[in-house]
Amino acid sequence: MTYRNFSLEQLQAMDAAHHLHPFTDHKDLRAAGSRMIVSADGPYIHDSEGHAILDGMAGLWCVNVGYGRDELAQAAFEQMKELPYYNSFFRCTTPTPVLLAEKLAELAPKNVNQVFYGSSGSESNDTALRLVRHFWALEGKPEKQIIISRQWAYHGSTVAGASLGGMSAMHGQLGAPVPGIVHVMPPYGFELRQAGESEHDFGLRAARAVEEAILEHGADKVAAFIGEPVMGAGGVKIAPDSYWPEIQRICRKHDILLMLDEVITGYGRTGNWFAAQTYGLEPDTITTAKALTSGYQPLSALLVGDRIAKSLVDKGGEFFHGYTYSGHPVACAVALKNLEIIEREGLIERVRDDTGPYFAEQLAQRVAPHAIVGETRSAGLMGAIEIVRDKQTRERFPGGGVAAVCIRDHAIANGLMLRAVGDTMILSPPLIWTRETIDLAIDRILKALDLAAADLAGQAA
Ligand code: PMP
Repeated sequence: MTYRNFSLEQLQAMDAAHHLHPFTDHKDLRAAGSRMIVSADGPYIHDSEGHAILDGMAGLWCVNVGYGRDELAQAAFEQMKELPYYNSFFRCTTPTPVLLAEKLAELAPKNVNQVFYGSSGSESNDTALRLVRHFWALEGKPEKQIIISRQWAYHGSTVAGASLGGMSAMHGQLGAPVPGIVHVMPPYGFELRQAGESEHDFGLRAARAVEEAILEHGADKVAAFIGEPVMGAGGVKIAPDSYWPEIQRICRKHDILLMLDEVITGYGRTGNWFAAQTYGLEPDTITTAKALTSGYQPLSALLVGDRIAKSLVDKGGEFFHGYTYSGHPVACAVALKNLEIIEREGLIERVRDDTGPYFAEQLAQRVAPHAIVGETRSAGLMGAIEIVRDKQTRERFPGGGVAAVCIRDHAIANGLMLRAVGDTMILSPPLIWTRETIDLAIDRILKALDLAAADLAGQAA
């Protein structure tokens, strides 16, 4: 049976009848119907009505090598024929997770050499939370339990992921969150920097919010700080240069572990394999997923630093944690091939030396001057556009996020998949984008901004 036996209307009716979508108001969705994406190739996705849409989000921040890679399909096919599944419990293992772990240890920062697999970013953040608490128990400090996170952080949708994250709407539906998690201010200068405060000073102030939380709870009670090097789903919030070195210093000073969530920034997005390298950090854990397989298979890898790994190996005792699909052989085969493609095609160097700087320049020169844009910013190939009604005062449009949704809808109708987070437009395209693709995307963004500005002016009148 293939979906081609069904009309779009039939598929939409079945979708409405049986399929509950993630992060969705189901009443709205039933009224509006869903957009059906049926195929994709290179930087384009195709919907059921034959539109080719440039994918400015690489799926959900994951399809870094672009769509339509036969080599990845081939890697999955061959592994499925040879060994579709076996687990890595009970002293067993299979070849592809082993090869992948060795490769990841080669690519990761020098102090990071071990891998614990899952199938999603959320799962691996659960692993990370349990692992750091287990580590401190092994070290004879079981009272070091608290994890410091940040408002607007996104660390996943499982109970631990949502508790670690700083999304108040998610907390509202959580019931009892995982205890021992506290949230401090994020390094979001556009809204939080005070008049007269420099970027540098603001970065230090945001980092000191972490130190204040450590002092408030007592360093003997704090296990770790967790952060996305660039906050993704919270609106591509990029810290000032002063922030991360200060966070590293504070963690070392108080003997607090540094946990990076690189589910988005891992595998090239900021112009290095990991943002830890972009910002010169020595993390104790790095959560990765998404672009590890470019989204062709569900796979996540928690990269574990030597300090934690040494304790596990030296002290022993079972870590009571793992998933049926930890180290799935097919997903790992696809990841190996995906990393090979990224290396062979020099995609990371391209982002670092060419498309990343070009993207920043084009956003600044062509998008930032627009009448309803308050700021543009980017790190490698992830970017944000702040939408405002008044450029000088940075006053937002009324209706919290309505303007951004209007821009997004115009962008999609004009052939660019773009995402709205609150009053911010965000982009995270495949790393195969060239200067020409960036030019095309910016043309479409400008058109969407013009159309939305006209709509919004009409509404205000
Ligand atoms: N952490 C970050 C930084 C993410 O962006 C995401 C997903 N967008 C997650 C964790 C959760 O990953 P998943 O959806 O694969 O569970």
